[in-house]
Parts: sequence; structure tokens; C-alpha cells
Amino acid sequence: MPHDHPEHDVRSHGTALSLDKLTKIFGHGKRSLAALDELDLKIDRGEWIGLLGPNGSGKSTLLNIISGQLAATSGRCDVLGKPVENLDRGALGVAFQTTALDPRLTIRENLLDLARLQGMSHEDSVAGLTEALARTELTERADDRVATLSGGLARRADLARAMLHHPDLILLDEPTGGLDPIARQRCLDHLAEVHQTQNRTIIMSTHLVEEAARSERVIMLHEGRCVADGAPEALCREIGDWILRIYETDFEPPSDEGWTRQGNAWTCPVSGSDDPVVEDLLSQQIELSVLKPTLADVFVRKSGQSLGHPEAVRS
Ligand code: ADP
Ligand code: MG
Repeated sequence: MPHDHPEHDVRSHGTALSLDKLTKIFGHGKRSLAALDELDLKIDRGEWIGLLGPNGSGKSTLLNIISGQLAATSGRCDVLGKPVENLDRGALGVAFQTTALDPRLTIRENLLDLARLQGMSHEDSVAGLTEALARTELTERADDRVATLSGGLARRADLARAMLHHPDLILLDEPTGGLDPIARQRCLDHLAEVHQTQNRTIIMSTHLVEEAARSERVIMLHEGRCVADGAPEALCREIGDWILRIYETDFEPPSDEGWTRQGNAWTCPVSGSDDPVVEDLLSQQIELSVLKPTLADVFVRKSGQSLGHPEAVRS
């Protein structure tokens, strides 16, 4: 099996993923539920995608279909130019919510097992292993058994495994789940580096806006449909330069236009702190903040629902 070497320029043109009315229905009759609802999507090679949506929005279902682990109910899913059924699994690097590592083996043994499965040469395996361990800062722990690792370390070992064979397409389902904030930042730094230096296509799911904001293109999922798609800054700019926020349960917005309520938070796009709307509310002694819009604001506006994490709504 041919393998890309990191030193080669792997920037390749073309489409990494193409979905046409992709639908997944779970259950039957009255109790059926569309986890993915006629989803259309095109992702180019080399893109870093943040798939953002609350629990139950269809992120894992989509990643499971792309990786060939789950069959769609209808529609089309082409991965790296082929129908997903014909995909060469070696072209994929996958880290999903349940670990792919054998707990009885060490990190090194796990990774070398995969290298063998992928038909990598001894030389490539050793080089890939060294690089993957360094990238995930696991070099010192390479000979620890996976069963003895903390959740965070095991997660990193999963990431190392996903990138070991330099796959064209890396699929990560909530890759920073279970990591502490510092480890989470490091993990995203690694991804940014892999994306920049090797130009791999990365599709990463998350329910955290700060995390999605690190990617190049955010695709927001809500009830199995795409409600927004674009560069994080562009999506935020679409709302406006500034956003006014008021936390008050019995607040009555002065007009119908622009105001959105989410829980006890009201928001409205404004031009800045000197916007007449702001000045008027301040003159009525109403406590408010004027903030830069975040992806959480975009999600609320596009879906009418919150991401389900109150802290994510603040910037
Ligand atoms: P996310 O990863 O965004 O949290 P999922 O893709 O796991 O969302 O789930 C999307 C919807 O599909 C949810 O309503 C979930 O309950 C449902 N679902 C997912 N997997 C199954 C399954 N195996 N059987 C029945 N329903 C499922
Ligand atoms: Mg999920």
C-alpha cells in the first residue's frame, strides 16, 4: 500500500468529502428520528473542519457514516473521491469517542500493530511512531500500558494512533473530550500543526465554540441539518460588529427586530457602545454588556437554540 511521506508535498487538490442528501433515520414508524436530514456538503482536501453542534445534533452519526462504520438510510456519501463503501480504510485516521486502543498493550505496541495492519514498512513505522509520539507528547510514556493511562493520556494516544500512518483524511469525534483545559489547548495546537505542515484534511466534531473557532471552516449542525457554514470570523461578522447582551428574566425588548432570547439572556446586534439602542437602555438603568459575537451567538441565531452550555454563550 503506498504511503505519503511527511516530507512530500501532500497538498492535493480535489474533494475530500461530498454528501448529497445524506439521511440517517434511526428507529421505525412513530418513533423514528432523522439523525441526519438530507445533508448536502462538500469539503475540499486540506480543509480543517469544525463540526459544531449540541448533543444529539448528528455529529457522531455523520462521522460514523464517513468512516464506513454506519450505513446511511439514503443519499450519497463520497469520501476521497469514492463511494464510502469502496473506501480504502488506510486513507482514514480515526479517533472516536470509544478508544481504538488495546488496553493490555503499551502505546508503542498499539501503534506498531496499526502500522503493521496498514502495511507500513519497518522504516516508515518507526518514523511515524516517533513523530506521532512527539506530536502528542507521549514519547516518555510510550512503554506504558494503555490500561494504566489517565483519560487524558489515553485520549492523546488515540490521537497519535489516528495520525500515525499519515492518512489523507483525519476524523476526530470530540477529540478533546475528557482533557483538562491545558491539554485541550495542546491537542488543538497539535491539530493546527498537522493541518499547517502536512495539509491533511481534518474533520473534528465539538460542542465547544472555542474549539470550533480554531478550525478553518465551521459547519454547524442542528437536528441533522446544516444551519451555518463558513470561516469562524466570517460567521461571527455576519451577525454584526458587536452584540448587546442583557441578563434579565423580565426584560421586554424595545422592538421585535434583531432581538433573540436564550434562557434569561437577550441579545441584539448593535453598531457599538454608542448605538442608540445601547444608550437608550443605559438611560433606563438597564444593566447590559456589549461584546464581540461568538460562534455561540451565531448558533443561537441560526438554530433558535443554544449549544446547551451556558458558559459557551459568553465570550
Ligand atoms: P451528537 O454526536 O451530535 O451528539 P449523534 O449523532 O450521536 O449526535 O445522535 C444524533 C441523534 O441520533 C440523537 O437524537 C441520538 O439519540 C440518535 N441516535 C444516535 N445513534 C443512535 C442509535 N444507534 N439508535 C437510535 N438513535 C440513535
Ligand atoms: Mg457525539
